[in-house]
Amino acid sequence: MDKDRLDPWGTSTVKDYSRLRSEFGIEPVAPLLPRFKRPSPHLSRGIDFGQRDLGRVLDAVDNNKPYAVMSGIKPTGDFHLGTKMTADDMVYFQSLSKKGTVFYAVADVEAYADNGLSFEETSKIATRNVADILALGLDPDRAVVYLQSEELKVMRLGIVFSKGVTNNMLRAIYGERQIGLYMAALFQAGDILMPQLPELGGPKPVLVPVGADQDPHIRLARDLAARYREEYGFIPPSSVYHRLMLSLSGSDKMSKRTEGSLLKLDDLPREATRKISTAFTGGRDTVEEQRRLGGRPDICPVFDLYRFHFAKDDEHVHRVHEECAHGIRLCGECKQEANGLVKAFLEDHRKKRDSLMKDATELLARSREYLTSTGK
Ligand code: SF4
Repeated sequence: MDKDRLDPWGTSTVKDYSRLRSEFGIEPVAPLLPRFKRPSPHLSRGIDFGQRDLGRVLDAVDNNKPYAVMSGIKPTGDFHLGTKMTADDMVYFQSLSKKGTVFYAVADVEAYADNGLSFEETSKIATRNVADILALGLDPDRAVVYLQSEELKVMRLGIVFSKGVTNNMLRAIYGERQIGLYMAALFQAGDILMPQLPELGGPKPVLVPVGADQDPHIRLARDLAARYREEYGFIPPSSVYHRLMLSLSGSDKMSKRTEGSLLKLDDLPREATRKISTAFTGGRDTVEEQRRLGGRPDICPVFDLYRFHFAKDDEHVHRVHEECAHGIRLCGECKQEANGLVKAFLEDHRKKRDSLMKDATELLARSREYLTSTGK
């Protein structure tokens, strides 16, 4: 049986999400679903499939106690449908209670170590990314956004943690890597644990929404939280994992690494149409075969467009799946419908994003001021 591979800096494959429990100790989300009054589409459609200690964050929500939602997104370019998933989760989990604060790390150290992007380039991209997440619904009044490379608290934690880990530990989690990536991993642990520093309100539940391939970072941060518990009082961070969306070529996850087969939130509608029209599908070789055998939505990136982002509601996802699997729906018409939904979203998002650029700049400045005021 193939082993699943979770590599935050490479190609990850997950053939069977339920196996991540036995292989990596990721628990299912399903038993916790009754605790959500308004489950997000990610929860109700099984996209958020796994978690570690999510119940601790839900306890904070139920008891009106402070909690943080923390995630980092690499500023490697405009948001795409892969990064939108993490952003959607940040927005949703922030919305569960007025006591939830989002910490969004613009992961420029990782973008430098993994993608070779200069800090000048990434700082320009960062403002557009922040405008993207605002357009997706982030409440700026309960959000702290910062550039990883500029935040001394993160750097200091990374340095402190570097004394508590050995090469063997990092190799066991990440495999053999260049030192820059190990450093980026330690700074990421700093990002994840920073919201619990005394100057930021002290120990509290922190939820990290990420793609399944980012689990190595969570394991490292939880390990470090335990090692430094006595010194800092850290509570082990919680996590919620989303499935990896297929790239439009049908292989690998949608990410910057699959540039030609990813949909960006900045794509012009005609560019998106071109990409969707040439996308791989789970359709059969002939119409006759598809009518007789049905399509294969579970390997189809066009179905992922509906399920992960653009279906009007859960019933719509179910209908597309059933019509496909029973040969009622053919790929041409299916792509056309998906294209209409994508186009409407992109046009609306672009307008919102462009109108929020000033707010994004202000949020970055306000966050910098706030973090500085809490001490270096
Ligand atoms: Fe994919 Fe739609 Fe074709 Fe089914 S009908 S395989 S969901 S494109």
